[in-house]
Amino acid sequence: MEASGFLVGPPVFKTGEAEHLGLAGSIPVRLRHSYIPCSTEVPMSSQDPRSRIPRTDTLLASPAVVDASARLGADTVRRLVIAAQERARHGEIEPEQVPDVLAQSLQAGRATRLRPVINATGVVIHTNLGRAPLSAAAVDAVQAAAGYVDVELDLATGTRSKRGVAARAALLAGCPDAEEALVVNNGAAALVLATTALAQGREIIVSRGELIEIGAGFRLPDLIASTGARLREVGTTNRTHLKDYASAIGPDTGAILKVHPSNFRVDGFTSAAAIDELHDLATQHEVPLIVDLGSGLLAPDPLLPDEPDATSALGAGADVVTASGDKLLGGPQAGIALGRKAIVDRMATHPLARAVRADKVALAALEATLTGPATPTATALHADPDRLRARADALAAAVGGEVVPHDGRVGGGGAPGVPLPGWAVSLPENTAAALRLGDPAVLPRVHGGACLVDPRCVPESEDGPLTAAVQAALAH
Ligand SMILES: *Cc1c(COP(=O)(O)O)cnc(C)c1O
Repeated sequence: MEASGFLVGPPVFKTGEAEHLGLAGSIPVRLRHSYIPCSTEVPMSSQDPRSRIPRTDTLLASPAVVDASARLGADTVRRLVIAAQERARHGEIEPEQVPDVLAQSLQAGRATRLRPVINATGVVIHTNLGRAPLSAAAVDAVQAAAGYVDVELDLATGTRSKRGVAARAALLAGCPDAEEALVVNNGAAALVLATTALAQGREIIVSRGELIEIGAGFRLPDLIASTGARLREVGTTNRTHLKDYASAIGPDTGAILKVHPSNFRVDGFTSAAAIDELHDLATQHEVPLIVDLGSGLLAPDPLLPDEPDATSALGAGADVVTASGDKLLGGPQAGIALGRKAIVDRMATHPLARAVRADKVALAALEATLTGPATPTATALHADPDRLRARADALAAAVGGEVVPHDGRVGGGGAPGVPLPGWAVSLPENTAAALRLGDPAVLPRVHGGACLVDPRCVPESEDGPLTAAVQAALAH
């Protein structure tokens, strides 16, 4: 199925990709062609129950629909009206039930077609599910920032203030080794801004082992080349030494870039230059050292010993580190730059900074993520295996299926190969499609011919809805 215009159906994945994402199994492709009934369409006998379906304009004029229009918008309401009529037309409900069914769907209706999904894959940062889920504190902040908000105003003096001061302060509190912080639109933007502001028209030295594709076909080398800096690749895929950097550095060098190859792992005969060694070389030649961390850990996490963090990288001598807000940091989509004041200021004052600036909602959510309680991401990562076992047992007791050991994953290109020991309920593989199409939608992991429901990334408060959704899917 080609995605076109307004036809919205389940996404189609290549087989390998779908398996990886927990989406494998038959994906029933149902295309609904919505149409507004008109008199010339289907000849109906007067006994035809379809003739009793309330007319579109009658439904649209009803008070419930008029009320809902103010909340949902006319297009959404019309879509729901037509969907209720369709159900009657297909015999799923009686024509007389159309107003009630419509009232229910208007009540549940949202102005977005994005649907909340219960993440039962065990993959904590699931890119296709929007990466990190926001904390309750961040959701409150989003709500507060949604209207007019003092994002660039000092209410005490009534004059303009610097955008993002509160998020900046929260970042600096979370990473005291940084002199300055800047928030932009996403991790890629932070990296592009760093390379543009610090090395445009000059060379950036980077190891061949770190020229990664960050997902959906976006490749770091292409991204950097698009900024007008020239890549100077050194070393080999598995081994790059300090001397490789040293022999490449010269008057043309704009920066040294070290990238954390976050989404894959090279095992065996490998070597990479450490940040502190590169720092000495960069300092001798007076070029900045940029470290692209990716994941956004501000401080080390003992659970993920190989995952680099901002504090350690700055301590080892990075001039600036770049990271995402919605990976291990557990916040909204954002790009973060932390580092020496002179370097971050060059980024902040570069014209490109305006093109990649963070929006007020993300700034508010990021601040609340940093100052608020543990994020859902941290909770899922550090979930106690015994507690996961008890929750899986309770689910299996209610729905059947077998409780099996199941390793969760960090996901989102973080800590590849690090298993997060836990448990899942194993169900027949074909349960997966019914779970995805249920209400609430649930995404399980499809693996080894089974549908695995892992409670790791499900807030405990949602265990009830999850159980009900699995029961409904099994009865399907
Ligand atoms: C994820 C990642 C990026 C891109 O960050 P986005 O927030 O997705 O734009 C860049 N570099 C590394 C190392 C990453 O892991």
